[in-house]
Amino acid sequence: KVRVRFAPSPTGPLHIGGVRTALYNYLFARKTGGTFILRIEDTDQTRFVPGAEQYILDSLAWLGISPDEGVGSDGPHAPYRQSERKALYKQYADQLLKEGKAYYAFDSSEELDAMRTLFESKGSAFQYNALTRVKLRNSLAMPPAEVDALLASDTPYVIRLKVPAKGEIRFQDSVRDWVHVHTSSMDDKVLMKSDGMPTYHLANVVDDHIMEITHVIRGEEWLPSAPLHILLYQSFGWQAPQFAHLPLLLKPEGNGKLSKRDADLGGFPVFPMEWIDPQTGAVSKGFKQEGYLPAATLNFLAFLGWNPGTEQELFSLAELVDAFSLERINKAGAKFDVNKAKWFNQQYLKQADIAELAQVHLPSLPLKDAEAFVHLFLDRVTFPQEIGQLVHEFSNRPAVYDEAVMANKWNVEAKNGLEVIAAQLPSCTTWEAEGIKQSIQVALEESGIKMGKVMQMLRVALSGNGAGPDLMISMQLWGKEEVIERLHAALS
Ligand code: GLU
Repeated sequence: KVRVRFAPSPTGPLHIGGVRTALYNYLFARKTGGTFILRIEDTDQTRFVPGAEQYILDSLAWLGISPDEGVGSDGPHAPYRQSERKALYKQYADQLLKEGKAYYAFDSSEELDAMRTLFESKGSAFQYNALTRVKLRNSLAMPPAEVDALLASDTPYVIRLKVPAKGEIRFQDSVRDWVHVHTSSMDDKVLMKSDGMPTYHLANVVDDHIMEITHVIRGEEWLPSAPLHILLYQSFGWQAPQFAHLPLLLKPEGNGKLSKRDADLGGFPVFPMEWIDPQTGAVSKGFKQEGYLPAATLNFLAFLGWNPGTEQELFSLAELVDAFSLERINKAGAKFDVNKAKWFNQQYLKQADIAELAQVHLPSLPLKDAEAFVHLFLDRVTFPQEIGQLVHEFSNRPAVYDEAVMANKWNVEAKNGLEVIAAQLPSCTTWEAEGIKQSIQVALEESGIKMGKVMQMLRVALSGNGAGPDLMISMQLWGKEEVIERLHAALS
């Protein structure tokens, strides 16, 4: 039975790349009838940011991809916050110590710094490994009595993994295919820190095992850690989950990785929701507040690193579940194309609920008018909140008239036509789009004037602009008196 997890660290607002990871995990779980778990990896207490965990939950809820199990929803492996599982990791580190697969290291940070400097002065990089560990202060290089004495006197220590000097780690990633790494290029990673907290690597592997995770779907930035994780699974004698490392998200221009700072640079959101930094008060834009619809955001994210293999671009969440597979995840980095995100939003906006948009964005208008306005402007906006602005502009009388159209079309026939319309409209009894149109048509026909010669001038006379939304609906919304007044103003 498939069990997947999204395992963010609450070190700040969830990045949009993290949301993509959550989405792919969600899709895979739904597709396979599996379980989607949320685990909060908060063992690095120096980087903990208050509010970040709630932000993760709120973001997933907004998008409708909330976890089945985990923080915020509980489950058989609770607690799902790693800081609350501290004792467990120590137990597993102790197991490796006992089996000789891990060891105590007492080196102070000054000593390690000195080693680094020494290696650098010789033009190489220091690694804590099979070659160097014999000369350092650890339980592999000391007599047992000395180790016991150090432990008894509460000397701070870390627990390191004893990486074999020779060997090859290999695993088949669902996206990258076979990955091979020689253990000689790996260092003896710290598993338990001196503050008694596990490192990410230990806690991550222990929890994935205990929580019976079958597939680890995560960002490519974790690929370099995967061989170490495989080695840890081997050390414990556990079966490793199947790995799938998702391609990087690249800046819109394709020049490098999309980072949190790009939000400020490009003016586009890289966070699902607005984030107010608890320390500085700085505000970062969010997809939600910018006016992206959840369905459009999900559809956009789904295509950042995956493709269905067909021409179809619009996918509801249910359709994504249906079409999704790990095999169709791309290797190449995915460009974060803001214009594509906007395009998706426009598509979904056209399908959005008119009454709801009317209520949210034009709350002060009678619902019937509000709905008519939404209808009128929906295919002219990218974000729903632009509707309010358009309605506002729409209500203003024209201050100037489109010069290009005037130069071209303001002739005797057009003027006559407008005069005929101005004379006719007061007797138009049903003031709604279809009635207005008929009334105008009849009057122009009787005067022998072609409708096509007059309509653009009519638009300019009423709105000032040469182009715009449906004119008859516009006239209906301006109201009879207003239209007649605008027409007279234009003719005078
Ligand atoms: N805590 C890691 C993160 O913040 C999880 C990586 C993983 O999925 O293994 O992304």
